[in-house]
Amino acid sequence: MAADSHEDVEELRALVGQLRTNLEARGRSGLVGVVVSKGPKASAAAAATTVTAPPVVAPPVVAAAPVVERQRDNVPEDGGEVAGPKAKTGKSGLQVVRDDLGDCKRCKLAPSRTNLVYGVGNPDAELVFVGEAPGADEDAQGEPFVGKAGQLLTKMIEAMGYTRDDVYICNVLKCRPPGNRNPEPDEVASCEPFLKRQLAAIRPRMIVALGKFAAQCLLRDDTPITRLRGGFRSYEGIPLMPTLHPAYLLRDPSKKKLAWDDLKAVNAALARVGIHPPRPPAG
Ligand code: URA
Repeated sequence: MAADSHEDVEELRALVGQLRTNLEARGRSGLVGVVVSKGPKASAAAAATTVTAPPVVAPPVVAAAPVVERQRDNVPEDGGEVAGPKAKTGKSGLQVVRDDLGDCKRCKLAPSRTNLVYGVGNPDAELVFVGEAPGADEDAQGEPFVGKAGQLLTKMIEAMGYTRDDVYICNVLKCRPPGNRNPEPDEVASCEPFLKRQLAAIRPRMIVALGKFAAQCLLRDDTPITRLRGGFRSYEGIPLMPTLHPAYLLRDPSKKKLAWDDLKAVNAALARVGIHPPRPPAG
């Protein structure tokens, strides 16, 4: 009996040792909350070795506001013709793209154009406006948005607190479609890579797409502009606000308030990352 109880005690000791080892290992792994007793003299240490399972952390809340980080390595998708991470940016970058365009004859619009309408404004603009294609006035002068719709756009830009020189203005197409007809797919296919390169050179914080054509083309989304407008989207990682075309606003001035709401949202989003227009915006 005595021998039995001695063996029992030894067995019990072994079991306790195994249990301690096991509990310590589980405690280190963080799998369970356990208090590992180190024996009667170790109660303080025991308290210190309380191992708690890692708390369940709620996923971070992603702000609904658009990201307006500057796209430093923004590489458009189309292979060789695009500006890569080492491509020049700003004024010299835009000039490289303009030089590559040259006296462009890539599509059927070339023979009927007077001037190729490249773009105008600040090569380092935070904000870029993209329209559809030059009209008669733009074709005659070689500058985007200088006709009646352009004059309204200028007022909208000024109401935001900018001038035309602060921002950059361009179109999807660089040549006027005859009779201001809609751009055709082969024309867009020839011209859009240059727009992408312009945007990659400027690296704006925000793009405003003016009207259905520019918005649908940049976003590859055929949702009507009346539903696209007013919500931020992303163009190659750059926040893009689709809004109503100034020519449409001239035809239906009651919609000007909607466009102004969109532009105020653009100013507000830029303000959230510390970008403010040089002059106070209109109320
Ligand atoms: N409409 C456009 O979309 N672009 C211009 O440059 C002029 C009118």
